[in-house]
Amino acid sequence: MAVTILDHPLASDILTALRDKNTAPPEFRRHTRRLGCLLVAEALSDMATDRREVATPLESAVGSALRQPVAAVAVLRAGLGLLESVLALVPDAAIGFAGVQRDEATAEPMEYYTKLPTLDQAKVLVLEPMLATGGSLSWVIDKAKENGADDITAVCVVAAPEGVAFVEENHPSVRIVVAALDRRLTPRFYITPGLGDMGDRLFGTM
Ligand code: URA
Repeated sequence: MAVTILDHPLASDILTALRDKNTAPPEFRRHTRRLGCLLVAEALSDMATDRREVATPLESAVGSALRQPVAAVAVLRAGLGLLESVLALVPDAAIGFAGVQRDEATAEPMEYYTKLPTLDQAKVLVLEPMLATGGSLSWVIDKAKENGADDITAVCVVAAPEGVAFVEENHPSVRIVVAALDRRLTPRFYITPGLGDMGDRLFGTM
C-alpha cells in the first residue's frame, strides 16, 4: 500500500489552523473544506484519462476526460467535513455513507447506518479524516469491497502509525492520502498531537 503525505505549504498552513484548539467550528469547517480540496485532488491524481476533442470558440482542441466515475464514502460523522470538497471537484460523484462506532465492551467496530452506491468500475474515495486505530476504516473498506469497489483510496487529514499499519495489513492494495502522519495514539485512542475529536470540532459538540 502506498501512503502519500501531502507535501504542500498551503496544506501545512491549513492543518496548523485545524490543530489550533482556539479555531471555532465555523472556521474549522471552512479550513477542513479547503484542505479537503487539496487532499481529494491528490487522491485523484493517479486517475486514467481518455483523449477528448473539444470545440473552443476558435478551433478544435485536444483535451481529456476521466476514464472512470468517482464515488466517495463518508465515514460518519467526521467524514462529512470532506464531502463538500469532493462535490466541489467532482460534482457528479456518487456518494455513500457509513456509520460505524466502537463497541465499548469488545472494542470491535459496530455498524449503525450504511448506505452505499454501486462501486464497481469507480474510483472510490473513503473519507475518514482521523485514521486512529484503523478499525473503522478497515471495516468500511470491507463494506466498499462487498459493494464492488476494487480501486480504493482513503482520504485522511491526520493518521497515527498504528492505524496506517492496521489498514496496510488488512487492505494492502488501498492507498492512503493524508496531510500528516502524527506520533502515536493515546491510551484512549486519540491521535497525538492530533487536533482533538474531529466530529466535535466540526459540529460544535462535546
Ligand atoms: N477520532 C478523532 O476525531 N480524533 C482522534 O484523535 C482520533 C479519532
